[in-house]
Formats: sequence, structure tokens, C-alpha cells
Amino acid sequence: MTYDTNNIFAKILRDEIPAKKIYEDDMVMAFSDIHPKKKIHVLILHKGAHADIQSFGEDAKDDEIVALFRAVPKIAAQLGIDKSGYRLITNCRTDGGQEVPHLHLHLLGGEPVGPMTA
Ligand code: AMP
Repeated sequence: MTYDTNNIFAKILRDEIPAKKIYEDDMVMAFSDIHPKKKIHVLILHKGAHADIQSFGEDAKDDEIVALFRAVPKIAAQLGIDKSGYRLITNCRTDGGQEVPHLHLHLLGGEPVGPMTA
């Protein structure tokens, strides 16, 4: 899938628009969702030009995939929800309801997150 370099998360990654950053390392950034669905709602992004989980799984290098998933428990621990638990969601393409075409994981927690789908 073609990557749109002007998507809003690409602009956040380039520091062109602000975000409430929670975590950053060489390959990963996490920031608060602007419309939180739960007490804690953080978006976790790989910094590379990956549009969605489908293309990420197909095209990313192994070290990129490892970096993204190794960051998740670190961020959860930093937020104090590693013991209580959380939900991790990624929306993919049209039927997945993806709005922003840069791969991101929604980390939801800080309270019981409820049923899996509405
Ligand atoms: P998705 O439907 O999985 O693509 O989710 C996109 C998410 O990005 C939504 O939960 C939005 O609330 C969130 N969002 C959109 N713009 C921003 C922004 N500028 N800063 C933080 N979160 C945003």
C-alpha cells in the first residue's frame, strides 16, 4: 500500500504538529489519542513509513517489528497498567475502520475496557 507522507501522524513524527508524547526511542513513538476512548488511550507508532499492520507485517524488517512489540510492555509499565492489563487494537484499512494511514496500535486501559466490540 502506498504511504501518504502527509498523513497527520507523519506530521507528528516530523514535529510539524504537536502531540502529547508519552514515549520515544529510535524506532517507536507513543502519544495520547486526541479523543480518548478510555482513561488511558495512547497510540503507539513505528516511525517508519508503514501504512498499516498488513503492509508492516509484509514489508517491515524483523528488527522494526521487534522494536514495536518490545515497546508495548515498556509503555504499559510506564503508564502503570502492566499489572491491571489493557487492550491493544490496530485498525486496518477500510473494513477495519482505519482513519489515519500510518500504522498505529491503540493502547486502552486505566479502567475495565468492556466488551470487545460494540
Ligand atoms: P484509526 O481509526 O485507528 O486510524 O485511529 C485514528 C486515531 O487517531 C483516532 O482515535 C483519533 O482520535 C486519533 N487522532 C487523530 N488525530 C490526532 C492527533 N492530532 N493527535 C492525537 N490523536 C489523533
